[in-house]
Amino acid sequence: MSLKLNSLLIHGGVDGDETTGAVAVPVYQTSTYKQDGLGENRGWEYSRTGNPTRDALEKLIADLEQGNFGFAFASGLAAINTVLSLFKSGDRLIVSDNIYGGTFRILDNVFKNFGITYTIVNTSDVAQIESAIDDTVKAVYVESPANPLLTITDIAKVAEVSHKYGKLLIVDNTFLTPYLQRPLALGADIVVHSGTKYLGGHSDTVSGLAVVKDKALADRLYYLQNAIGGVLAPWDSFLVIRGIKTLGVRMDRHVANAGKIAEWLEGSGYVSKVYYPGLKSDPGYEIQKKQADGAGAMISFVLDEKYDYKKFFKSLKLITLAESLGGVESLVCHPASMTHAAIPADIRKQVGIVDELIRLSVGIEDADDLIADLKQAIEASRKEAV
Ligand SMILES: *Cc1c(COP(=O)(O)O)cnc(C)c1O
Repeated sequence: MSLKLNSLLIHGGVDGDETTGAVAVPVYQTSTYKQDGLGENRGWEYSRTGNPTRDALEKLIADLEQGNFGFAFASGLAAINTVLSLFKSGDRLIVSDNIYGGTFRILDNVFKNFGITYTIVNTSDVAQIESAIDDTVKAVYVESPANPLLTITDIAKVAEVSHKYGKLLIVDNTFLTPYLQRPLALGADIVVHSGTKYLGGHSDTVSGLAVVKDKALADRLYYLQNAIGGVLAPWDSFLVIRGIKTLGVRMDRHVANAGKIAEWLEGSGYVSKVYYPGLKSDPGYEIQKKQADGAGAMISFVLDEKYDYKKFFKSLKLITLAESLGGVESLVCHPASMTHAAIPADIRKQVGIVDELIRLSVGIEDADDLIADLKQAIEASRKEAV
């Protein structure tokens, strides 16, 4: 029976436990498995190589992303590290000009040392991608919406261009999750996630995921997952499965709250810019509407110069200043000094990650309370008139 997404969130992957009938997939907290004789095992040998709880999560994320093979890792960056390990010295990647700071860091400070290089372009302009492609390029890597400026890239168009030249398209789908956007269905080859964010959803576990359709690519990734070893532990796999069960209801509230807050901010007079692809004024609005089922719940905005951003952060009472995003509680961060500090200042300025930029992960609290907190904190941060 083919299930719709809301049912797959609950019953996708491995539905409960065959052996005992347990409704929740148990935490198989074991490192190894008894072998019945030499070369005879029951499908499980060692938990880096495979673990039933992790396997259930891997099958679940594959179902949700409309892929065929899922992989779970100890963090989003462990997933990205493994995917980037598909490449070798001399290979080059084309990368979105605003991406998660840690992704930039691993490219710039780790893979570059091994001769795998990157070229940054504005991937929302497909022509820029096409003109950067040459023989050394092996893949295009995009986030849409991108972190932290929520820039939208037309995934189907980029897939078409990438494939025209025989390159892979890798999409980081952390900000929307498969509930709102399914990059593989749009033509991407590899989807990566920080499961730490909306999939886990409760700010209580760090995890990463990757999904592909293609069997040959899956074989290579599986080999690398086991060879590199950054796998997700059974308990954390359980927590992410548990988080995913409520993904739909959480995302509905996240998105509704974010829409209200973005509109309020835009008309508030407190900000000089709001970045949110759900606003009609946003340059990504039309493409976002075409390729996703919602605009997500990440909003970035630039405080008007009448207000002191440092004081704003200190004045918030309900919204928490913290790294990360996608949890049930609203979090706010300062990209220039926190999530994106690894990006050199000149590149930051060039793409718009200015010091006054504030990134808000809208939680599932009451939207009116969130707006009231933003309002009082902004008013408390008004600079003294000179
Ligand atoms: C957080 C994040 C990552 C990294 O994930 P970790 O789980 O922190 O390692 C990658 N991409 C995006 C878009 C993220 O927000």
